[in-house]
Amino acid sequence: MHAAIIAVGSELLTHTRLDTNSLFLTEKLNLLGVEVVLKMVVGDHRGKLEAAIRYCLNHAELVILTGGLGPTEDDLTREAVESATGRALVFDSHICGALEARFASFGRKMAEINKRQAFVLEGAEILPNAKGTAPGQWLAMPSRQIIVMLPGPPGEMKPLAEEEFLPRLQRMLPPLALSTLTLRVAGMGESELDVLIAPIYKQYENPVTTILAKAGDLTIHLRAQTTSQVEADALTSELGAKIEIALGDRIYSRDGSPLEAAVLRLLIAKGQSVAVAESLTAGMLGSRFAGVAGASKAFVGGFITYNNGQKQGLLHVDPWVLAEHGEVSEPVALQMAASAREQANSHWALSLTGYAGPDGGTEENPVGTVFIGIAGPDGYLKSHRFRYPGGDRERIRQFSVQSSLNLLRLALD
Ligand code: AMP
Ligand code: MG
Repeated sequence: MHAAIIAVGSELLTHTRLDTNSLFLTEKLNLLGVEVVLKMVVGDHRGKLEAAIRYCLNHAELVILTGGLGPTEDDLTREAVESATGRALVFDSHICGALEARFASFGRKMAEINKRQAFVLEGAEILPNAKGTAPGQWLAMPSRQIIVMLPGPPGEMKPLAEEEFLPRLQRMLPPLALSTLTLRVAGMGESELDVLIAPIYKQYENPVTTILAKAGDLTIHLRAQTTSQVEADALTSELGAKIEIALGDRIYSRDGSPLEAAVLRLLIAKGQSVAVAESLTAGMLGSRFAGVAGASKAFVGGFITYNNGQKQGLLHVDPWVLAEHGEVSEPVALQMAASAREQANSHWALSLTGYAGPDGGTEENPVGTVFIGIAGPDGYLKSHRFRYPGGDRERIRQFSVQSSLNLLRLALD
């Protein structure tokens, strides 16, 4: 089944409001195997809304409208559906009575304009709204198409969709089994990843593959839908196995958990610990570790040494090394890591020093250059130089954290 969603409301055409209802609905519809093929945002204008409904009816079996069901003159969804379908709007005294009772329960008398909300398209079923005054409507057309009207406020739309609309829709759809697999990948860019795996996943229409990219963190989602669970699981396993072979140890998680959780798992399994020495990230790495429940089993803490004084004072980085090589350099990263490991009495330590920008940097080490040091057992001491593109401070800091976690993961593996 193909669906179209129309978000109604002139406020949604300003720069201050976003249509979030359709995102919620799309997720729920996809879970039922319904594909959203068209979305529109239309202002409070009867003619334009009527045209939008007609257009959607030409492209989808299910047309969902959210918003425009309020009591005021600018809420025109009911009238626009009337014009687009030729179905008359009829007054429903039961709805009116329920509205009056709702107002009475708050000790208020219903205003005359609220009667507008008691008009129903001929033949439509009412979807009761427990959270507000505007009931939803479900209109089945002779063409076997369905038009659904839902209230605009997300706090009303969501419960109404979940309790009334979606169960009704599900009952008329063939049963579907869903199988998902999430693989998370570090240490490569989005395009590099796609070059490797697109030739594999493009062979499959089912599962559907999507890739989400954040700074230094890639998530591959596989979603298979068929009529049997065994078959759906087999589909995700088959494609998942092929992708895993192509990516090898670049995959760090198969259950959706983040990179720091994977690192902590490895450390805990070995009975080892880690400390951090952070300059440009100033606690972001430590905070990532601490965000995982039970982190104290392996994360001991660390040092925020943002300026050179702190690098010298807390981590005893040699002043002449700072003067000779600069604070963003391999020798400084190495000294930071080695010293943090020693002072925290941990098995491992990660250090980060770099230019997050947008200003600063040197000719040799421009903005985006980051050195990550890693000190470990048996004299393990290495530094890696990264050069992240662009001058986006936040992104460079996030990339740095991600890279440091991935280096430790690979060192532990
Ligand atoms: P309504 O009276 O039904 O037109 O809806 C009015 C309220 O719901 C306003 O606060 C809107 O900003 C909010 N709203 C309407 N449509 C949407 C939408 N598609 N996404 C998020 N909020 C919405
Ligand atoms: Mg409105």
